[in-house]
Amino acid sequence: MAEAGSERSDPGRPSVLAAPGRRAFLRFAAAAGGATLLSSCSATSGSTAASGTAGAGNATAGAAAGAAASRAAAASGPPSAADWAALAQDLSGPLVRPGEADYATAKELFDPRFDSLHPAGIAYCRNPPDVATCLAFVRRYDVPVAARCGGHSYAGWSSTSGLIVDVTKMSGLSVSGGTATVGAGTRLIDFYNGLSAHGRAVPGGSCPTVGIAGLTLGGGVGVVSRAYGLTSDNVQSLQIVTADGQLRTCDASTNPDLFWACRGGGGGNFGVVTSFTFTTHPAGPIVLFFLSWPWSQAAQVISAWQSWAPHAPDELWSNLHLAAAPGGSVPSIEVGGTYLGSVNGAYAQLERLYAAVGSDPSSPFLESTTWLHAMLVEAGCASLTVNECHLPTQAPGGQLSRASEYAKSDFFTRPLSSQGIGTLLSGVQSLQQVSGAPGGSGGIAFDALGGAVNRVAPGATAYVHRDALFQAQYTTGWPVGSGSAGVARQHAWQRAFWQSMRPYASGQAYQNYIDPDLANWRQAYYGANYARLTQVKAAYDPDRVFTFPQAV
Ligand SMILES: Cc1cc2nc3c(=O)[nH]c(=O)nc-3n(C[C@H](O)[C@H](O)[C@H](O)COP(=O)(O)OP(=O)(O)OC[C@H]3O[C@@H](n4cnc5c(N)ncnc54)[C@H](O)[C@@H]3O)c2cc1C
Repeated sequence: MAEAGSERSDPGRPSVLAAPGRRAFLRFAAAAGGATLLSSCSATSGSTAASGTAGAGNATAGAAAGAAASRAAAASGPPSAADWAALAQDLSGPLVRPGEADYATAKELFDPRFDSLHPAGIAYCRNPPDVATCLAFVRRYDVPVAARCGGHSYAGWSSTSGLIVDVTKMSGLSVSGGTATVGAGTRLIDFYNGLSAHGRAVPGGSCPTVGIAGLTLGGGVGVVSRAYGLTSDNVQSLQIVTADGQLRTCDASTNPDLFWACRGGGGGNFGVVTSFTFTTHPAGPIVLFFLSWPWSQAAQVISAWQSWAPHAPDELWSNLHLAAAPGGSVPSIEVGGTYLGSVNGAYAQLERLYAAVGSDPSSPFLESTTWLHAMLVEAGCASLTVNECHLPTQAPGGQLSRASEYAKSDFFTRPLSSQGIGTLLSGVQSLQQVSGAPGGSGGIAFDALGGAVNRVAPGATAYVHRDALFQAQYTTGWPVGSGSAGVARQHAWQRAFWQSMRPYASGQAYQNYIDPDLANWRQAYYGANYARLTQVKAAYDPDRVFTFPQAV
């Protein structure tokens, strides 16, 4: 592997700063406003593979599942303590129940605001038969169920009052030629780490502890999506245990409707995925860049960026981040991104942005680095090892923290007019007048689209958003333990900001930034694909074993 920063040349351009983590950079650059964004993230590691394999088509998921399935006739009441104990006996992985020492940790999602949820059990499934056993149990006793991987659902819908089927112990990775098969419980940073050991890459998101299952099932937008597509666009096949306990292989010719639905149809809808097989790409050196301008030039930067980033060569991906803080001073504006090529090639692209803005950035940073280091930087783990780039509860030595955040999203199919840019700037600035939580933050981050993402037809997979120039995520976060009144005011600000952008956005929303506020979520997440999704749901989960407030 090349040393990080091994190609940090400077053809007449200032190259400054020691390599910051992405969020560290954003924090640094946004210091005037006190803004932080794009969250800090979580993880796990060291778990066993065991995703199991199935032949073509469907297979009952093992003898244990068969025994459990034979008891799957409806019971007359809720499960007793003895019934839960019997479930524990039937599983090869641990079942954690209220009152046990590990329960408080086992029920945690990434966001502490969901700590008030109290599932009746958390089953750490080691293999598909464990999953089938859990599904037979919940069917027999009519217990609510939720699949959980990374626990990053913005609505907390990977928890439940019933049984959490946790897949994180199915996290092995094997790479063969141009494909990689990964257990569905793998966290992103472990996925990147495992792939990079083989010199391979799959496009994914930036948060290191997001789970591959939740990410992929809802799409998966990341820093090389313009070149290599969404995470879900790279799925060749997957294995899923459906509500009837069947382990099904899904690919273009086997269970093709379910395969279609599992590429963008959203997590938690059709069964519990136990493994994915992905197409991989070379993980060569990659250029990272981070640029900032004074807030006084924000309108020019937005105007220039939106005409530049979605139309650049596929090798270039970019993000535009506007951040502020409740009661803070001047907001910040940053452009970050990646380039699959040389530093000089990246400079040539950035020169076009600078020309369109009308000025050079005040703090440019650019370097060529290894793929894995780039993923660590994007994850906010620039100075951490892979092991450290985890939550302490999930890996010894993990140094990340859980974080609280509300999120909303938009896709934009037209460039913002000057009026739209004015509305955007006003929305960000208005957070300064909000009496929010001390240390709170908020803003909006745009991810450039186009390229490979938009070359897939909207109906080819369940992921329908194929015509957008960029997507946006509106976020507001607060330190753990903040008072609810300040948080509520930040939330009101975020909703009002999002509302103010209605005239300019497409009306679509990203299903992975799942948003309990959205009244028209069917159309916003899935558009014309929703009708077919309901047919797949009816075929594979007719009794709606898998359900949550925005379930297909
Ligand atoms: C801090 C942060 C950063 C993010 N960054 C990005 C990013 O860069 N790019 C991007 O595209 N998205 C990003 N996201 C959104 C992320 O992709 C979604 O929140 C995703 O659903 C999280 O998946 P998970 O497995 O971590 O979450 P979970 O909460 O475990 O699961 C999410 C949903 O999927 C279901 N699910 C989980 N496992 C399975 C399974 N094995 N089979 C079937 N259903 C399952 C759950 O029931 C739930 O409905 C980010 C989110 C956060 C909070």
